[in-house]
Amino acid sequence: MRHELIIIGSGPAGYTAAIYAARAALEPLVIAGPEPGGQLSKTSEVENFPGYPQGILGPEMMEDLRKQAERFGTRIIYDQVEKAEVCSTPKRLWLSSGEVLEADAVIIATGSSPKWLGLEAERRLYGAGVSACAVCDGFFFRGKPVAVVGGGDTACEEALYLSKLCSEVHMLVRRDEMRASKIMQKRVKATPNIRVHWNTITVDILGEQFVEGVRVRNRLTDEESEIPVKGFFVAIGHQPNTQLFVGQLEMDANGYILTRGKSTHTSVEGVFAAGDVQDPIYRQAVTAAASGCMAALDAERWLSEKKFIEANP
Ligand code: NDP
Repeated sequence: MRHELIIIGSGPAGYTAAIYAARAALEPLVIAGPEPGGQLSKTSEVENFPGYPQGILGPEMMEDLRKQAERFGTRIIYDQVEKAEVCSTPKRLWLSSGEVLEADAVIIATGSSPKWLGLEAERRLYGAGVSACAVCDGFFFRGKPVAVVGGGDTACEEALYLSKLCSEVHMLVRRDEMRASKIMQKRVKATPNIRVHWNTITVDILGEQFVEGVRVRNRLTDEESEIPVKGFFVAIGHQPNTQLFVGQLEMDANGYILTRGKSTHTSVEGVFAAGDVQDPIYRQAVTAAASGCMAALDAERWLSEKKFIEANP
C-alpha cells in the first residue's frame, strides 16, 4: 500500500513529526522500530523537558507523545524496517512481518544508540546508577562521587557537566592520552574535582541493587583497585542507527545522516532526517522533538510542491 508519508522511528523526533504531519492531514504512518518510544522509554525521570515542572517519567512522556500523535490520525505499526530503498520512486520499506510499504516521502527518525562496554552489570544496573547521559541523570548524583568512562569529547563534556553537581568525578581513560579536543582536555584538567585515571580499564561495576563502586585495572601494571562511586556514566560514543541507509544517503564519517543547511532535507529528494540520527552534538529530547517538527514541515512543503508539479506538467 502506498502512503504519502512514512516516519521511521518513535522517539521524540518521530512522534513530533507525526503530530505535525497528522495535523497537516498527511495521515502519517509511524513504524515504531525495535525500541518503541526510543531511548527515553528506557530512562527514569525526565526533568529537563520544558513544560513538566515536576518532571515526568521517560516512558510516560513517550506514551503522551504517542497518544498526541494518534489523536490527530497517526497510525502506528509496531514493527521494524529490515530493508529500505529510499532512492526509488516510490520509496520502499520492507518490514520484519514481511509487509512491504511504499511512500512518497520518508522521515528518518531512527535515533542513535549509546555504545556500551559490554559488562553484564551495565544492563543489570541500568537506571540504578548506570547511565549514558549526564544531562539526563546527573542531577540524581548531587554531592556524590561518580565515574565517567571514555576519553573523547563526549566523556569530557559529561565529566565537566557532572563536576558541577557531584563531589568527585573519576574519568576512566583506557590509554595514556585522550581522543578529545585539546580545549576540552584543558578544561577537564583545570577542574579540581575531576580526577583522570589514565591507562585504566573498567573490569566490573559493583553493587547489587544500586551502583556502589567500580573495579578497575591499570593496563600497564595489571594492578586492580576499587573506586567507590554512586553513578557510572558510559561515554564511549554513540552509534547512529543508519545502517539501513548506508550507500543511499550522504553521511558523515561517524555515520550520522547529513542534512542540507538548516533544513532536514537529506541528499535524496523526499527523504528527511530528524533527531539523533542527524545530530552528533546536542542529542536532547527537546532538540530531537524540534527537528521532528522541522522534518514534518519540510516534508509537507516538498509533498505539496511535488503534487503541484505533477498536476501542472
Ligand atoms: P569518540 O569516538 O570521539 O571517543 C570515544 C572515546 O571512548 C575514546 O576516548 C575511546 O578511547 C573511548 N572508548 C571507546 N571504546 C571504549 C571502551 N570499550 N572502553 C573504554 N574506552 C573506550 O566519541 P565521542 O562520543 O566522544 O565523540 C563523537 C564525535 O562527536 C567526535 O567527533 C566528537 O568530536 C564529537 N563531539 C563534539 C562535541 C562538541 O563539539 N561539543 C561534543 C561531543 C562530541 P580510544 O581513544 O582509546 O579509542
